[in-house]
Amino acid sequence: MHLSLRFHARVHARALAIFALPALVAIPGARPGLGSVDIRRGSPAADSVPRYDLSVRLDPERRRLEASGTLTLPPASSDRTEVSLTLHEAMRLTEVRLVAPEWAAGAAAVDTVARERGDLRLRVRLPQTLPRGRRASLSLKFEGGSATPGFLFYLGGDVIYASGWGTNWYPAPGDGSIKVTGRLRVFTPASHPVVLASGGRPLRANRETGWHAFELPRPTYLSFVAGRFVQTRVQRPGSAPVTVYVAEARAGDTAQARAAAAALEVLERTFGRYRWDSLAVVEYPDTLARRLGFNAAAEPGMLVLKGGFLRSNPSSANYGHELTHQWWPNVTGFRRPASLLAEGMANYGAFRVVEALEGHAAAERFRRTGDPGFNGDISAWFYLRHAAAGFDTALVAFREGTFPGRNMGGTKGAFVFESLAHEMGRDRMHRALTRLLDRHEHGTVSVEMFEAAMSAAAGRDLKWFVRQWFDREGVPHWEAAWRQRAGRLHLEVTQPPPYYRATLPVIVTGASGAATVHRIVVDGPRSSFAWPTTESVTRVEVDPAFRVLRWTASLRSRADALAPVTRARAARSVDGLRAVLRTLPQPDVHGVTFVTHVSLAELLLDADRVGEAAAHARAALEAAVRDPEQLSLAYGVLALDARQRRDTTRFQEAVANAIAADAVAGIPGPSVWVRALRMP
Ligand SMILES: [Zn+2]
Repeated sequence: MHLSLRFHARVHARALAIFALPALVAIPGARPGLGSVDIRRGSPAADSVPRYDLSVRLDPERRRLEASGTLTLPPASSDRTEVSLTLHEAMRLTEVRLVAPEWAAGAAAVDTVARERGDLRLRVRLPQTLPRGRRASLSLKFEGGSATPGFLFYLGGDVIYASGWGTNWYPAPGDGSIKVTGRLRVFTPASHPVVLASGGRPLRANRETGWHAFELPRPTYLSFVAGRFVQTRVQRPGSAPVTVYVAEARAGDTAQARAAAAALEVLERTFGRYRWDSLAVVEYPDTLARRLGFNAAAEPGMLVLKGGFLRSNPSSANYGHELTHQWWPNVTGFRRPASLLAEGMANYGAFRVVEALEGHAAAERFRRTGDPGFNGDISAWFYLRHAAAGFDTALVAFREGTFPGRNMGGTKGAFVFESLAHEMGRDRMHRALTRLLDRHEHGTVSVEMFEAAMSAAAGRDLKWFVRQWFDREGVPHWEAAWRQRAGRLHLEVTQPPPYYRATLPVIVTGASGAATVHRIVVDGPRSSFAWPTTESVTRVEVDPAFRVLRWTASLRSRADALAPVTRARAARSVDGLRAVLRTLPQPDVHGVTFVTHVSLAELLLDADRVGEAAAHARAALEAAVRDPEQLSLAYGVLALDARQRRDTTRFQEAVANAIAADAVAGIPGPSVWVRALRMP
């Protein structure tokens, strides 16, 4: 959420995975951040999946758990003398025995071989050497917990969240990247009566004894939540039921469940069947979510959201994005180093859901300038202005955990998949994606595998497409010129090198107002087209709905003018922004003054320098050229300043102005959280 007044790009790197945490946290009391966490790790082939049979006893008061169970490992290809396990350092393995094969049973010794990024790498030395081709079953006991939250892991608070995607809270086979199937039993005291296991089919729940049992039929990381929830369930014929779990019932709960269900339906048409029996949308306390480092976590069959999401209007973009992760990467991931393509796919899913549920105009707006109610950094404008500021690279070279790279890659990826839909036909692409997910269920695909699958589905080689969009930086800049002569309309599209080949829609509007749609294929420096016309043509537009990520002359000049601000803002440099103010362009047609002051207001607010922030907000509002989309941000800062000074009149005035500014801009913008502000 670009309106968040604080941007944290905290990186949680593990041996095999890097998690990006754009935990966009607003000021205390304001609406929480709405960025999303992407959590994924590599996946094994489905035929070699370890099985866990695990019982976990929770003790929320002491923020601890005790667990025991059996881990059965698939046959090894060579003789086995030891087993590798990975366990978070807040946990302790207290007992390991080899229990099968029976003839080799006995106690095993455990060595800690390394300590890496909060994990213990453990070597379990088996009592006897097991010949290759044999399964091995270990009985394990472990316990632990921590007073401080880990990544998606905290055993205290109103909602307990233990995510195997985020933290190796149980002894995970190998390096922690391997998924398991099995059975999970969780005991909770009466304070946390409801338990949900990600990807889990409930077997039994006994409220009297506090035990809840789940079967985990698909390979996954063991994740569960426990808490006291009010449930709202929506069931549509032929689709998985959606249940919203919140701390306290609210009028909008059903709307949230319906929005999630509607998004799932759109995504099933895009990526094929939804794999899990149900979808749980779980509210997680805002204050704790911040400490656990996430805004939204998409686990198999379960979406854990900061409460703020569920207190605002349902966001199609947010559900589209987060629920696409139920396919990418929860079913199939993109292979490293291009794993950020799953983020592009999630945003493509968001494009589809917004278009299907909110219409073409909303979808075009989302593509062009983003949806501040979801993550305003996912938009063509975000990508382009940062590209102009020197942050661009090849699509496959953008990485998780980077700013602005992660959101540039997430945006460009979405547009590239949109362009591919135009190139090969959307239905054909969706069928090809569905087959790819089926074929690589619980695995990963490389860019080469993706390209081969799309080429096969299209019936022609699409290497050129991958090369131009995935392997080099930049986007096209086409200029179109047209004239009408002797009953024919002539259109010429030119572009500077490096050239892009693309299939583009052209809308031709005549004097009567009638419009016709043509499709053209541009390639090389100059592409010419001609059509017979009967009436006088008044307008010719190439890709007017902005489906292809590209430069236009006006976007180029605005992005270039703002580049110094963009750079200083990305570096979070107050001095850098102040330097921009000393060299403002005259005349300032692109509103550099306004954007610089707003950026300074944001940074100073983050540093709790509210008074200085307010001064810059006022300076921004006095600028001659202002960005309508960021106006409410300036008013929001004034509201916070007034709140701090307990000036009720100014506070109410600023809140009203923020709401009015967003209404005029036609966006569900920063005023969404400003609206939630209250005088203390
Ligand atoms: Zn995501």
